[in-house]
Amino acid sequence: MIIVMKVGAPSKEIDAVSQFIRDAGLTPHPMIGVERTVFGVIGDIDKSFEERVQTFESVDIVQRVSKPYKLASRQVATNDSVVYVDGVPVGGEHFTVIAGPCSVETEEQIISTAKAVKKSGAKLLRGGAYKPRTGPYAFHGLGEDGLKLLALAKKETGLPIVAEVKTPALVELACQYIDAIQIGARNMQNYDLLIEAGKSGKPVILKRGLWATYEEWLLAAEYILSQNNPNVILCERGIRTFETYTRNTFDIAAVSVIHELSHLPIITDPSHAVGKWKFVEPMSMASVAAGANGLMIEVHPNPDKAFSDGNQSLTFENFDKLMNNIKPLLQVMKKSL
Ligand code: PEP
Ligand code: MN
Repeated sequence: MIIVMKVGAPSKEIDAVSQFIRDAGLTPHPMIGVERTVFGVIGDIDKSFEERVQTFESVDIVQRVSKPYKLASRQVATNDSVVYVDGVPVGGEHFTVIAGPCSVETEEQIISTAKAVKKSGAKLLRGGAYKPRTGPYAFHGLGEDGLKLLALAKKETGLPIVAEVKTPALVELACQYIDAIQIGARNMQNYDLLIEAGKSGKPVILKRGLWATYEEWLLAAEYILSQNNPNVILCERGIRTFETYTRNTFDIAAVSVIHELSHLPIITDPSHAVGKWKFVEPMSMASVAAGANGLMIEVHPNPDKAFSDGNQSLTFENFDKLMNNIKPLLQVMKKSL
């Protein structure tokens, strides 16, 4: 259920409604907007609660949410949510580019990449320290040493850090170094991980599973939101279809559909979606035109030598070109870098 408070409702009234929800054995999830506060209420809600909460002077609208996902639903917020990653906004009118290598490899590699992507306009640095790989003999990342290198890159450049966390047990450790937790496509329905990431309170970039419908994806987001962590960013990274020419099939429609179904920001990851560097720029342009809130792009100083995902990684030069080429489109879309 959502409870929409009247514009300018005094904080005393808002607190009273919050307490009323709690006294009924339910959990209030307040969303504080510029004009008004909206409560998402999760739990077994009976008719008498619904009737009684309407009697509060400052309550404007009380509405049941028909979708199986509640807090992720567009019904709970008319405005698009903006998630702040160590002060960097993602969502709304902002267009945020996250860039960096697939894997953190060496100090020189991550620092040089951080400097290059920052210069080109990226606002967040990505890099994998714990890599989910299809085969057990591939490079699986530097682990905590990789996180330390990411923290060093932040110290050098000021760019906040995004990195994947693969297991619930690693959430606490990773959060000492990073600013946003990435949940990988393969882990989209790892419910224990979603809950732990939710509890951390950190922003979470939730990638779409290779097999996942929009509803399953939003229900995964709901796990994080239900831990009182409103900081969820969705990331479309391609799905598995019969086509094998590209690594995955980039579902560009996801951008529009998610904007219709949810208030959460949605970014795209054309690198993993297509798997070939040549198509990363055109699919980035398509993402801007579709209304995405940002991009996640893999960039490497020497893609031919990358420990993982070299085929889809952009050189510094090609990343710079991409950033320049999206600018006129961003203007059309009334978004700013
Ligand atoms: C990655 O971002 O490097 C990654 C492994 O992504 P995905 O989970 O989308 O495959
Ligand atoms: Mn990768």
